[in-house]
Amino acid sequence: MRKIEHIGIAVADLEKSNELFARLLGKSHFKTELVEGEGVETSFYQIGDTKVELLQATSPDSPIAKFIDRKSEGVHHIAFDVKDILAEVERLKAEGFEILNETPKLGADNKLVVFLHPRSTNGVLVELCQERG
Ligand code: ZN
Repeated sequence: MRKIEHIGIAVADLEKSNELFARLLGKSHFKTELVEGEGVETSFYQIGDTKVELLQATSPDSPIAKFIDRKSEGVHHIAFDVKDILAEVERLKAEGFEILNETPKLGADNKLVVFLHPRSTNGVLVELCQERG
């Protein structure tokens, strides 16, 4: 893993949170993106070499809606940039980590993504992401 690519934060109301984070970070988000497959609307903030991703559910059965029901708004996942996502999946499987989707899927921001189950990572939902060529 090369760096923290972004930190994902679950929010109930993206519009309100965009105002809040603009005040917090002193800058506006640089884009919003709907990821239909994940049932989320996202917005991104560039913070130096990494990003903050806000995620709002687009339907009640979205993973973000379930997360907010179970816990509350807050840090949802940490995403690590990887060079070769398939090799990284193999390495982590061999290390005993539980992979949620072994076949990378298309995430926000033109990335291939794989998630690790939080029960194998001390409660942290870990996302691997690889830039699509
Ligand atoms: Zn993410």
